[in-house]
Amino acid sequence: MIQIPMLDLKREYEYMKVDIDCAIKRCLEHQKWILGPEVYELENIIAEYLKVKNCIGVSSGTDALVLSLRALALKTKGKEYFDRNDEIITTPFTFTATGDAILRSGATPVFVDINPTTFNINPVKIREYLRSPSSGRVAGILPVHIFGQSCQMDEIIEIAEEYNLFVLEDVAQAFGGKWKGEKLGSLGNAGAFSFFPSKNLGGFGDGGMVATNNDDIASYVRILLKHGGKDKYNVDHIGYNARLDTIQAAIILAKIKYIDEFNERRRQIAELYTNGLKNINALDLQSIYKSSTKDDLFHVYHQYTIRLKEGKRDDLQRYLKDNAVSTMVHYPLSLHKMGVFDGVMKIHSDLKNAEELTEEVLSLPIEPLQKEKDTEYVVKLIKKYFQEKDNHKKDG
Ligand SMILES: *Cc1c(COP(=O)(O)O)cnc(C)c1O
Repeated sequence: MIQIPMLDLKREYEYMKVDIDCAIKRCLEHQKWILGPEVYELENIIAEYLKVKNCIGVSSGTDALVLSLRALALKTKGKEYFDRNDEIITTPFTFTATGDAILRSGATPVFVDINPTTFNINPVKIREYLRSPSSGRVAGILPVHIFGQSCQMDEIIEIAEEYNLFVLEDVAQAFGGKWKGEKLGSLGNAGAFSFFPSKNLGGFGDGGMVATNNDDIASYVRILLKHGGKDKYNVDHIGYNARLDTIQAAIILAKIKYIDEFNERRRQIAELYTNGLKNINALDLQSIYKSSTKDDLFHVYHQYTIRLKEGKRDDLQRYLKDNAVSTMVHYPLSLHKMGVFDGVMKIHSDLKNAEELTEEVLSLPIEPLQKEKDTEYVVKLIKKYFQEKDNHKKDG
C-alpha cells in the first residue's frame, strides 16, 4: 500500500539537492559559522521579498517572538521586560510558543476567541475586550496567521491605532502569504517567522527571522540576539545567544528560490481537496476571505485543516491511518487549558470556538511535491468513509 505522509522532507531535499549541497559546501569552505555572510544575505533577500526595511535572523520562531516582544518593551517602556500589568491580546488556537513568548517577555497573555470558520483571532472579540471593564493596560496584539491564512489585518491595525497598541504578527506558518497584496509580516510593527523544518519555508534545524520597518525594534533585536550588547564584552541589556546559524541561513537561501513555486503547489493541492470535499455535509472546510483579485489574499496552506462534527474526528483519523494516510491534529488543546498559563493569563468571555475546534480539526497531508493522484486518493477515502457511515445508518 502506498504511504501518504503529512510532509516528505526527503523528497523535497532530492528536488533541491544540487542547490542545497552547493550551499553547504560553500560553508564548509569558508568556515564562518557564526554570523557568516549567508546570514546577512538571507536577511537582505527576505527584506526585499517582504518589502520591509529590516530583517534580522534569529535562532528560532520562538526567539523571533520573544526578542520582538523584548525589543517592544525596551522601545515603548524603556524597560527590559513588560510586567504582569501589561497585557497582550492573542489567540488560544495556536502553537504553544505564541503564548509562551508573551509570558517570557513578562506580560500577561489575554486570550480572546477565534472565528470558527477561518480559525483566526476574531477582531470583534478584541474590540469587545478592550471596551470591557475587565480590560487592563493593554500593550499590544499578537495575531497568528494560522495554517497560512492571514488574519483580518485591516480591522486589527485599525483597532491598534485607535488604542495605541503594537501589532506583532506571528508568521511562523505563513511565509509568502498576503493580505490585500501585502506580504504577511510586513503589516504590523514586527513579524516573527520560523524556519523549523516542517514550516512552509524550513531549514535543517531551528531558525527564525524578525521583520520590521522600525529601526529601533531592529536594532534592539540585533543587540538582544548576541548577549544584549553592541559590544559582546560590554553588555547593556539582558540578552540571549539567539543567532541564526550560518549553515541554516545557507540552506534557507537555497530553498527560498522555490518558495513561490511550493506555495503555489500547496494552493493547488488545497484546491483539489476543497473541490473534492465541499459537498460532504458532515465536514466543514476552512472558510477563505474573499478577495477582489486572484492573489490579493494569498493563503499559503501551511496546513489543510478540515473540521468534523459529531465526534467523528478520531474515527476518521483512524480510518485514514488504516489506509496508509497520515494526518495530524492541530491543535489538540487550546492554550488556555495548559498548565503553563494557569494563573498567569486572562480570558475574555469564553473561548468556546477554540475549544470546539480542538475536538474537531484534522489536518490532511499537504506535501508540496505530493502527486495529484495521491491527493485524489485521500479525497476518495474520505468520501468512502462517509458513504459507509451513511449506508450503515440506513441499514441500522
Ligand atoms: C512553529 C511555530 C512557532 C515557533 O517556531 P519555532 O521555530 O518552532 O520556535 C510559533 N508560532 C507558531 C504559530 C508556530 O506554528
